[in-house]
Amino acid sequence: MSNNEVVIGLEVHVQVTSLRTKLFCGCSSDYRDKPPNTNVCPVCLGLPGVLPVLNKKAIEKAIAVALALNSKISEEIVFVRKHYFYPDLPKNYQISQYDRYGLVPVAVGGSVTIDVGGLSKTVRIRRINIEEDTGRIVYPEKTVLGSKYALVDYNRAGIALLEIVTEPDFRSPREARIFLEKLASILEHLDVADTSLEGAMRADANVSVGGKARVEIKNIGSPRDLEKALSYEITRQLNIVKSGGVIERETRHWIKERGITVPSRAKELEGEYRYFPDPDLPPVPVTAELIEKVASSLPELPDSRAKRISREYGVGDYMASVLVLHKRLCDHFEHAARACGNPKLVSSILINEFLRWLDEADIPLSVGILRLSTDRICKLVQYFEKGVVSIKLLKEYVRLAVLEDRDPEDLVKQGITTIGEEEELERLVDEVFKENPKAVSDALRDPKAINFLVGQVMKKTKGRADPKIVNEIIKRRLAEYGS
Ligand code: ZN
Ligand code: MN
Repeated sequence: MSNNEVVIGLEVHVQVTSLRTKLFCGCSSDYRDKPPNTNVCPVCLGLPGVLPVLNKKAIEKAIAVALALNSKISEEIVFVRKHYFYPDLPKNYQISQYDRYGLVPVAVGGSVTIDVGGLSKTVRIRRINIEEDTGRIVYPEKTVLGSKYALVDYNRAGIALLEIVTEPDFRSPREARIFLEKLASILEHLDVADTSLEGAMRADANVSVGGKARVEIKNIGSPRDLEKALSYEITRQLNIVKSGGVIERETRHWIKERGITVPSRAKELEGEYRYFPDPDLPPVPVTAELIEKVASSLPELPDSRAKRISREYGVGDYMASVLVLHKRLCDHFEHAARACGNPKLVSSILINEFLRWLDEADIPLSVGILRLSTDRICKLVQYFEKGVVSIKLLKEYVRLAVLEDRDPEDLVKQGITTIGEEEELERLVDEVFKENPKAVSDALRDPKAINFLVGQVMKKTKGRADPKIVNEIIKRRLAEYGS
């Protein structure tokens, strides 16, 4: 292994947000924005004497994910109790699955192919579990140390989760991010999860540099944060090694607001969880009929969609592979491309400009799509095709739409157009010619004297004009004078 080789593996928890109810009770799976501890019942509060009843739809969703990730589906689903003591866990055990001592999770193996800058890479999946989510601990002063007490909200306890674990196949933060984006897109196409919801997809990342100790980073909330957290962590580890220190095997926490990782509670060792099959939940057989039923209703998935898009719209394989990384972006693209034609320009607007500004300003895709609506994209395409805006100005319009919610039509009305700019410059050139008759006659004889006129026009625009364009307009005018 080379000195600084980076090895990353991921463990992703995804809430099955498309289910109506929790995994083992009838409470709503939509717990967000509800008053604390109102979305609960004796089952998800873990009160004595209650019995869990499995939500069968969760099994179907898990099978759909297993099929999409080419995983081997187990013949039987066995739930186990994973014991640990923490206030957010009402029963003091989590109902989960296990892959040892003859027990199997819902599916093992599988793979996802990602596109890293035009190169295809296969990421291996280790396993897929079904398990229940925990409650949430709320610190009144936002931080643990700053708060005198903590509160627990069990509204989230018992929400169905899928735990998807990869092999350590990533060699850079970028690859991990692309994988997580692709996984999110697959889950969205399958109608398993809306991963844009706060907390719906949480990643834990294992990272080691140069074969040294493995560090786990917990609770990363988005693909963008995953890339940031890993980059931060790798730099941190490299700096420790450089200054002669030793990397310790530990669990760290990503603090999004500060852009750093910090040490967190020591993780229990595997043996301390005291896994055993849950006697309240008999094993569920997974029949061939059930698998067939789910398989026959699988929707179009990102890989086949990318092939269709590149064929149908002629946008190129790479552009298509980026579009399908976000189901909503891809839906938006198809909608706009059909509405205003010019799919190549539409894809370029969305991928090269739109995504870039979303990322830079950390604006959610759903908000961005409202700001750069189909209607606005169509206006941009028309303005560009009619020469009302140059490609440079079009890019500026996209930026203003995404960051400031400005409508291209209003910008055109304000005269911020290529044509408007040129007309304004022509007017200024005429002014300068009138004010400097001697310089004009000099320039007619000696091309070098043009620079003085260019300088005068630039002065009038306070340096905002493009001197090249000013130069061209002046040459054009001089040619008219000379003839
Ligand atoms: Zn409940
Ligand atoms: Mn888990």
